[in-house]
Amino acid sequence: MKRALFIDRDGTLVVERPTDDLHVDLEHLQFLPGVISGMKTVSGLGYELVLASNQDGLGTAIYPEQIFRDSHRVILDVLASEGVRFDDELIDVTMPEEGAATRKPGIGMFGEYLKGDYDLGASYVIGDRITDIILARNLGARGILIQPLERGREMVAAEGLQEVCALISDSWSEIAEFLRAGVRTAEVKRVTKETDITVGVDLDGRGASRIDTGLKFLDHMLDQIVHHAGVSLNIEAKGDLHVDEHHTMEDVAIVLGEALIKALGDRRGIGRYGFALPMDESRAMVLIDLGGRIDFEWSVTFERERVGDVPTEMFRHFFKSLGAAMHCGLHIEARGANDHHIAEGIFKAFARALKAAVRREPFSDSLPSSKGVI
Ligand SMILES: [Mg+2]
Repeated sequence: MKRALFIDRDGTLVVERPTDDLHVDLEHLQFLPGVISGMKTVSGLGYELVLASNQDGLGTAIYPEQIFRDSHRVILDVLASEGVRFDDELIDVTMPEEGAATRKPGIGMFGEYLKGDYDLGASYVIGDRITDIILARNLGARGILIQPLERGREMVAAEGLQEVCALISDSWSEIAEFLRAGVRTAEVKRVTKETDITVGVDLDGRGASRIDTGLKFLDHMLDQIVHHAGVSLNIEAKGDLHVDEHHTMEDVAIVLGEALIKALGDRRGIGRYGFALPMDESRAMVLIDLGGRIDFEWSVTFERERVGDVPTEMFRHFFKSLGAAMHCGLHIEARGANDHHIAEGIFKAFARALKAAVRREPFSDSLPSSKGVI
């Protein structure tokens, strides 16, 4: 099935004038920073490119056709000079007060794309207004909002469109990279006689996180991964804690590892990393290799039997299970005088190593191995 990018014009390709009654004429024509190289990258990704724009009152006395035509031709010519050509143009010329079905976010002019030839779930609307994200919802597509992150988050939250909005960015290079690499999310559910666990992961940390394993200290440690790795985690675990902590901790590690590796996809553009950090009197070092071979080393000694509601012997088992589920090499060393610090230092160092290891190298498609396979 075909996929499309429905791309807004004013505020998205070219800079908008300060008020709606000022049109983008030739004199005020200015491209958004990075849009030409960004669109060049995007145009090679197999999407059909559809320009979709409201041009209020175009062709009437308030907005003569010639003003639009002159600037629009330059926009298309400049993009075409880099090989970027739109497959279709959808332009609505009604005024907002007319309430026309063709006016975005209405889908009246998108009929061609609703006949079943297009995989709208894998298509995107790219635009600078919340109405562009509402359009994405109305089409059953996802939205990319061109705004500074904080402002965009407020706009999206105010309309409850968090599920629809796949990315908020005011950088065209980031948008191009996002579309090139795809969404790195996964959800894994595992039910056994001992545990019922669901883990959702977003490696790029766009969503909210919620962690409830029934073990308060483990929740606190997993929060370190969210915070220090910059990932989003939704973990819900119901385990047989009336027996002991073993099954819950082991299975959380397994499902978390499976979700992390599933979200990584084909692992293009990722690396192999490590991180060491001090935590008051203690120190922790975690080396991680996502190259696909399982190896585990653990050099940590705890003095106490428990930290909070977690037995300290379970930390080794947790990371061994996690590393095996992620098919990774994982070497962990830590020492110190305070067991809470040692445990927290390990989780923080793991999070930092993970953050570096799963980070996308911008515009790198290569696999992180000299062999070319991992
Ligand atoms: Mg716009």
